[in-house]
Amino acid sequence: MFRFSYRTLSRAFIGACFAQFHKARVNADALRYLTFQSFLWYFNSVRRKIPRQVQEIYTTLKNAGFECYVVGGAVRNLVLGTPPKDWDLATDALPQEVIKLFRKVIPTGVPHGTVTVLHKGISCEVTTFRIDGIYTDLRRPDSVEYTSSLSEDLRRRDFSINAMALDIETGEIIDPHDGQEDCLRKIIRAIGRPEERFDEDGLRILRGIRFAGRLGFTIESDTLAAMIARADNLKTISAERIRMEIENILESEKPSESFAIMSDTGVLDLILPELAACRGVIQREMHSFDVFTHSILACDGIVVADPGLRLAALFHDIGKAPALRFTEDGEPRFFGHEAESARLTQGILLRLKFPNALIRRVTHLIAQHMFSYDCRWTDAAVRRFIIRVGKENLEDLFTLRLADSYGRTGVPPDPRSLDGLRRRITGVLSRDEALTLKSLKLSGEDIKNTLSLPPGPSIGQILNFLFESVVEDPSLNDREKLLRIAENFYKTRLKTG
Ligand code: ATP
Ligand code: MG
Repeated sequence: MFRFSYRTLSRAFIGACFAQFHKARVNADALRYLTFQSFLWYFNSVRRKIPRQVQEIYTTLKNAGFECYVVGGAVRNLVLGTPPKDWDLATDALPQEVIKLFRKVIPTGVPHGTVTVLHKGISCEVTTFRIDGIYTDLRRPDSVEYTSSLSEDLRRRDFSINAMALDIETGEIIDPHDGQEDCLRKIIRAIGRPEERFDEDGLRILRGIRFAGRLGFTIESDTLAAMIARADNLKTISAERIRMEIENILESEKPSESFAIMSDTGVLDLILPELAACRGVIQREMHSFDVFTHSILACDGIVVADPGLRLAALFHDIGKAPALRFTEDGEPRFFGHEAESARLTQGILLRLKFPNALIRRVTHLIAQHMFSYDCRWTDAAVRRFIIRVGKENLEDLFTLRLADSYGRTGVPPDPRSLDGLRRRITGVLSRDEALTLKSLKLSGEDIKNTLSLPPGPSIGQILNFLFESVVEDPSLNDREKLLRIAENFYKTRLKTG
């Protein structure tokens, strides 16, 4: 049996303690080393994501003795691990000082402290730290005051996730409003008192909804309550600012998420009442959803980056609400809704000041969206379809059709469902048949001279008749045959006395 003296035991104890202490120190060093390495790795990986040009703008400002930070959406995206869309820098340099430092600067918003620096092919907004003055019109501060304090600048920003600043040199994120935590917890939270912030600028309500929808975040309860209470503030916001937010929403992966929040908060009723009217309009047959849900899902169903197509999908059925009638057995019917949808869409897009070319394209697609092909269509029917839709719009209309099908059930449709019609169209186009008035083998001048017609509308009427005849039967597109038809049509249908 072993016997230990107190002395031996205490020595062993001290030895063990020392070993543990040493181990702990080694562990602590290792931990510190690892932390440092992961910080370096994180920082370098973040730094790699910042374009060289932005780093150079930063360095120029720093070398001139100014402070400079990356701010806004870029920091949010870096924290979330998604690629930043644009780069905003904040500095204590005044706009005039920034202008002096760079060769190409656009004075985009000097009264608000912002200039755009163009540097080696990149454009970067540089804004002087500022405090917003009083808002009397719920849109823009009456005045802005420059400040040398970054934290004051961060406090004027809308949401915690948008109020972080990144120091490029050290990798430190300055985050006085816990934006990183909110990014982690997936929360949209207004800075300060939400109602006051939405009273200053009503557009923030729509911005918050956009961020929530786009990022899949939840709106914090006080912020949400204030959005509902202050939704009316959006009435004072200019059409252009609202349009820009809607365009941004249409760029999200699933715009339906934002439109659903707009509906829940009452914002939809204010800015798109025509779409809000589609809530609860029940559809039957192959539809699983009401017209509103169908419309926003159809919008998601456009997977190409094309805002025009997304608008067409979003509004293609809004005419259903006013067109709704019930059959004797209580079935909903929406006769002629496509024309009504096109008319309402034109009104919305004009109101929101979308460009005219886009309005024409979107309303045309909506007016044409109700085609229903079956293999019994004659070639003449296929030709009439191509002429009605326009060769250049066919693929867009098919994309809209697939999105429409997606919106019925939320299940991606089989793209081959349109192959039959596509093949028929390819056939017609490859035969180079007459699909425009210009391709007729007889001109208005020929008709006028041969038939000795007096000036008037009859030439146009004859040409239209000839065109319809050729669309019906392409073999008639022959000068002699057309002359005979023209003569006959003129004598029997137009000539008087
Ligand atoms: P995105 O990725 O869509 O560009 P963003 O956050 O960068 O989002 P911007 O409109 O580019 O949004 O604005 C840049 C930053 O300016 C925001 O992150 C926010 O800090 C601030 N900001 C923009 N608009 C407002 C506003 N209406 N009220 C307060 N702060 C705003
Ligand atoms: Mg941005």
